[in-house]
Amino acid sequence: MNPFLQVLKQRAELEDFWVLPASLTDAQKVQANSAIGYSEPPEVAPIVKPATGVHVKEELQMAFETGTSIDPKYTNLTQYQTLDQFLQAICDCTRCELGNTRTKFVFGVGSPSSELMFIGEAPGADEDAQGIPFVGRAGKLLTEMLTTSGFIRDKIYIANVLKCRPPGNRDPLPSEVAECEGYLHRQIELLQPKLLVALGRIAATTLLRKQLSMAVFKQSEHSYHDVPLLVTYHPAYILRDPNRKGEALQDFTRIRNRFIELGGTFGLQ
Ligand code: URA
Repeated sequence: MNPFLQVLKQRAELEDFWVLPASLTDAQKVQANSAIGYSEPPEVAPIVKPATGVHVKEELQMAFETGTSIDPKYTNLTQYQTLDQFLQAICDCTRCELGNTRTKFVFGVGSPSSELMFIGEAPGADEDAQGIPFVGRAGKLLTEMLTTSGFIRDKIYIANVLKCRPPGNRDPLPSEVAECEGYLHRQIELLQPKLLVALGRIAATTLLRKQLSMAVFKQSEHSYHDVPLLVTYHPAYILRDPNRKGEALQDFTRIRNRFIELGGTFGLQ
């Protein structure tokens, strides 16, 4: 297959259907679309340029012009059949600039048999230093709330939307999420959890592609790639406003009840 079409196919596997360089001619767009199984051209969404790093559009255009393609180890993620194999392959990722500023790649932690997965926003300083999610102050509070609510932390899977720390703990950029979210998606496919829990507004907004208040997010059940998803406060928020802890513990009870209702057992005390 022409390398350009190969890149688009890889993008399609990541569900980045919209990443078509605006500079393509209509004929090229039709050719590209038909290569990834579209009869109608998808809408071309504006691509947000990251502060630094490789621009998705430029990457595609370059692949088109030079006949090179993105290394399939970062894009053809269905080739990985275990979480460990997946981690080993992608832990040197530099698909966005965070790959050049991180200390450690923070893939995720927990048993491959976990049936419940908590998803935070991105590693902080402690996580970046240790390569493990939620090990700093917020992580300790998360562990405490899990234990109080009848879970065993080691038997729950914990990951973040971004695998690398944004400098100064700034919010993830849309371009960073676009490069990294496929990893989370494949982690979920491999783990097949019964329930997902988004920790905080940024994780919820990013995964659900909706801007709602936490009160509204918390009210109902959502789904991400067909897996039920509940939302609760980020533990760092509770550290800033300890009055929210009681409400968060009620959320954790709701999470436990729903997990049991969905047939979950692994991870309960
Ligand atoms: N905050 C997050 O969202 N994730 C971590 O891993 C740590 C802090």
